[in-house]
Amino acid sequence: MPLLPRSISDAIEALSDLPGIGTRSAERLVFALLKNENGLEQKIGITLQELKKNLHECEQCCHLAEEPLCPICQDSGRSDKQLCVIASPLDLLALERTHEYRGKYHVLHGVISPLDRVRPEDLRMDSLFDRLKKDVPEEIILALSGTAEADATALYLHDELGKIFPGKISRLARGIPSGGDLDYLDAGTLSRAMLERRAFD
Ligand SMILES: [Zn+2]
Repeated sequence: MPLLPRSISDAIEALSDLPGIGTRSAERLVFALLKNENGLEQKIGITLQELKKNLHECEQCCHLAEEPLCPICQDSGRSDKQLCVIASPLDLLALERTHEYRGKYHVLHGVISPLDRVRPEDLRMDSLFDRLKKDVPEEIILALSGTAEADATALYLHDELGKIFPGKISRLARGIPSGGDLDYLDAGTLSRAMLERRAFD
């Protein structure tokens, strides 16, 4: 006999499919929702249903946006002199939390990973190269975190960019733990890594 009504076990199963949420966390979340008297489960249900509806990639930087350009590309207060290349929108959020960077971004949506069959052409590299034909920054910062795949992606990009981009190419300072995504780093560490960035050579 199942211990729980189907509606509850279905909700637990769905939530435990999320990264970082095991069965026990999912159970706690579902029971917290059952206890909540403000209709939180409905609110979450509706926001999640709407989540992907109007979403697409920014025409310029490939960050997620609801308008043709994302808020960062629309912000005239941001400098065009620096372009920071990152693997995911989560890295953008992590870097923004440091309040250290006022340039623009380009989101690759992944890193090269032969094991997962992610090739350079699966990432937003062409849009980066196209973008550089129109706007040439003074510096490109390859803020790809310390996994082997991210390092390989940075190396690949460095070689490709070297063919078309005359400016400075830099990378974050050491201190990024190996295997750590940028969004797992505390703001202080990331902020230092950005401030003490060095030439990519
Ligand atoms: Zn954008």
